[in-house]
Amino acid sequence: MIATAPIARHEVVAVHGGIIVPSEDISEYRRMVGGIRGVQVDDGYFLCPTEKEGGRFNHSCCPNIGFRGSIVVVAMRDIVAGEELVIDYGLSESGIDAFKCRCGARACRKIITKTDWLTVCSDSTTSEYCSPYLRRKRSPPTTSPGRGFADIQPGGRLCANNR
Ligand SMILES: [Zn+2]
Repeated sequence: MIATAPIARHEVVAVHGGIIVPSEDISEYRRMVGGIRGVQVDDGYFLCPTEKEGGRFNHSCCPNIGFRGSIVVVAMRDIVAGEELVIDYGLSESGIDAFKCRCGARACRKIITKTDWLTVCSDSTTSEYCSPYLRRKRSPPTTSPGRGFADIQPGGRLCANNR
């Protein structure tokens, strides 16, 4: 996808939508829709467009777009008109079938694999653009003795309106 006008850093370039496709069906889905990848939203689930026209971004090891939340894609830097919008697939999924990359970036990883997200989501220049799913997978929330149901004392008024 090519930018038809200048795009400012952090400007929204796309919002994903569609249907949920289980991981075991994602290869068949991609064959049917011509390589559209969708967005991995959790272990075992992808959010995928329902039409071929749903948008497709090529991979680059030097991306110019990334995630802000699970479905919003933003510019990682200022983008000029005519520039291709490219995303690092390591920002969006943890189950990539390995492929040879020919993106041409000086820092090209040459082979893209299902473990690339570990590096991409740890790199200080790209980590803030990782999908929330991968950030959570990288750094699972620690369990803390926070407020939970067990903390609510009998007779508590927290849900008083539901009685
Ligand atoms: Zn590359």
